[in-house]
Amino acid sequence: MMEEWVWMKKAEERIVEALKQGLKNMWEEEQAQHLREEGVYYPSAIGACLRKQYYIYTIGEKPSPEKLAIFATGKGVHKAVAEALNASGIVKVEQEEVGTSLKISENITLKGRIDILVVEIDGSKSIVEVKSTSKIPENPHENHLLQIQAYLHATGYERGILLYWDKRKGKVKAFAVKREKEYLHKIAERAILLHEHLKRKVPPLKEAIIEGRQWECDTCEYRSICEPFIIDTIPKNESIVVASLDGVLVDDTERKKLALFLTGLSPEIDPSLIKGQLKQAFLKSYFDPANYVKDSPKTDSIDELWRYRKLGKYIVIISERPEEYYKQTKEELEKMGVPFDALILRPENQPIIKWKRDVLKRLKENYDIYIYLESDRRIAEMIQKMGILVMVPQTRVSTEE
Ligand code: SF4
Repeated sequence: MMEEWVWMKKAEERIVEALKQGLKNMWEEEQAQHLREEGVYYPSAIGACLRKQYYIYTIGEKPSPEKLAIFATGKGVHKAVAEALNASGIVKVEQEEVGTSLKISENITLKGRIDILVVEIDGSKSIVEVKSTSKIPENPHENHLLQIQAYLHATGYERGILLYWDKRKGKVKAFAVKREKEYLHKIAERAILLHEHLKRKVPPLKEAIIEGRQWECDTCEYRSICEPFIIDTIPKNESIVVASLDGVLVDDTERKKLALFLTGLSPEIDPSLIKGQLKQAFLKSYFDPANYVKDSPKTDSIDELWRYRKLGKYIVIISERPEEYYKQTKEELEKMGVPFDALILRPENQPIIKWKRDVLKRLKENYDIYIYLESDRRIAEMIQKMGILVMVPQTRVSTEE
């Protein structure tokens, strides 16, 4: 009996150890195919965060367990897609990886074996880059376009397909892409930029976070060196007050009524009850900077922020307004006399509640959040559960879908 128990315990440990070691070995085997020398860059590096590439070349890669899991899942999805396409009887998979070489300049070449599928569709060949995702985008992400364009130019193929596969819901979406000369210039610019930074030993800008791709930073193994969530204007570990914007510092009641009217709805309707395309039309008008003229300042909350400022707190404003309206939003805040040290707006396609929670989680890692001002009760309750003190100046009807 005792022997059996000992065996079972040992077997549990051995299987976990074997999986970890096997993943590490697979990863190392794959990395051995990628040259890491100045002047020779891997084609997929060009679409990814250049600062991360800089760290890969200067510090080396030590894959975290999370990174190994992502690597293995990616391999699995790639293989599964190849098998499914082959079994379809509609298209034929001719290759599952391709060697590449693209000379950018005298000293710079993009080179390496890449995991793409070469398929024959209706008699013509194209490459397929598979992206497993938890949310299929409306349009392909720019960094993915850069990546597939780098592959097209490096392999010489004329056409490619970006295939997004939502691994949770099983949804699939394909975007056909033609090789474009303009992209070759962008690819060359990025390769030269990376090369110059490596030569000068200066890391490039924190590209992923600047362009709103926080998820890349969440799984980046250089996060502790790069510190992407430190706000340039606020030193680490300082005490900050975070405030939401619409409904807290700005009275948006009239703008909301106008947006409802422009959508063809009664101004009295609760926006959280609107769904689908109507909701999209409402949000478009609601967030439209042309309608900010309808806003008025909430003086009590603004005075409160000035009091915190006098106590030496830094002020961070976060808003679900789309990032593209940063300039107009900043102007509105300045006009209303709102004090702030940082303004963070929501990147495209990010669900409001999840985005706010993620921003606060990241701020909490680097700062002492003294208090958070939020007018949406649902969001306030969720943030409170993160151990953050929340003040709700006035309840407001949510615009969240
Ligand atoms: S943490 Fe983000 S910005 Fe920094 S290197 Fe990694 S991906 Fe790039």
